[in-house]
Amino acid sequence: MPELRKDPVVGRWVIIASERGKRPMDFPHRSPVLHGGFCPFCPGNEDKTPPEIFAVRPQGQRDAPGWQVRVVPNKFPALIIEGELKRRGVGLYDVVDGIGAHEVIIDSPEHTRSFADMSVAHIATVLEAYQVRQLDLAQDYRFRYILVFKNHGEDAGASLEHSHTQLIATPIIPKRVVEELEGTRRHYEIKERCIFCDIIDQERFDGRRIILETEHFLVISPFAARFPFETWILPRRHEPHFHHVGEIARLDLAGVLSTVLRKLNLALDQPAYNYVLHTAPINTGADWHFHWHLELMPKLTKVAGFEWGSGFYINPTPPEDAADYLRRLELGPRDAD
Ligand code: ZN
Ligand code: ZN
Repeated sequence: MPELRKDPVVGRWVIIASERGKRPMDFPHRSPVLHGGFCPFCPGNEDKTPPEIFAVRPQGQRDAPGWQVRVVPNKFPALIIEGELKRRGVGLYDVVDGIGAHEVIIDSPEHTRSFADMSVAHIATVLEAYQVRQLDLAQDYRFRYILVFKNHGEDAGASLEHSHTQLIATPIIPKRVVEELEGTRRHYEIKERCIFCDIIDQERFDGRRIILETEHFLVISPFAARFPFETWILPRRHEPHFHHVGEIARLDLAGVLSTVLRKLNLALDQPAYNYVLHTAPINTGADWHFHWHLELMPKLTKVAGFEWGSGFYINPTPPEDAADYLRRLELGPRDAD
């Protein structure tokens, strides 16, 4: 069974996936993305993935073609779903059994269609699948956090070309989220306001870092962006949990996500990217001061020694310049609509 271990100095959890048992020669310098050839995510190959957990399927049977979005367990999960959760101390150290869920959301039946090229309605369906899985996994008392993230392109860590999103439910709250939770809580205790709501007000007043604004969302280059063209999508209405977003705002978000990705594709020539959905923890109670959001990071720079050693990031593109460039960029018609 995998094991979660906590670094006693900084409080960061790591997953030790011992059964993968990789030895030095098992680490290639680059793991190539499968281009062409066999794809387990394509329709007709449903038996090559574990049985589906959820699907949006206008026609056809379970684990057969006819689906629009399909969710399956990861074939090589970082955490496993079965078992009682045990937390224990080993001397000074904290250990938790590697219990969790690791799922793959196959975004579309079309192998070569990237997320940016899907219709807005289809992206909204994918977002709804995220919510369905979050709601279901939130019922599991063992879990504290559900992270939805996307790796797009080889440089962003994608190992398969076919567009997909991943979801990992963990029995602990990840350190990045703990830092955000503590920041939002501190601000609330002092000011009785949400820091993200304050950021939204300030950025709308200032305007220099706004990329896009819709009825429900504000898209900005964050003031202290770590990476060139790092982009945050913030819901304008305060809401801790992504899974509470309703149909109208979800459709708006799909349009926003599509526009942002198409702009990044045009500006940066189809960059690899990661996005992470930061939502409030589950089964913990006090989370009303959190404000869900989506962070999108094109992979344009490499995290190197200085960053690893210091926690600093060196960003060669001021967020004001990135926002100005993306804001002015004119997009042609979308071919999927
Ligand atoms: Zn495929
Ligand atoms: Zn807020």
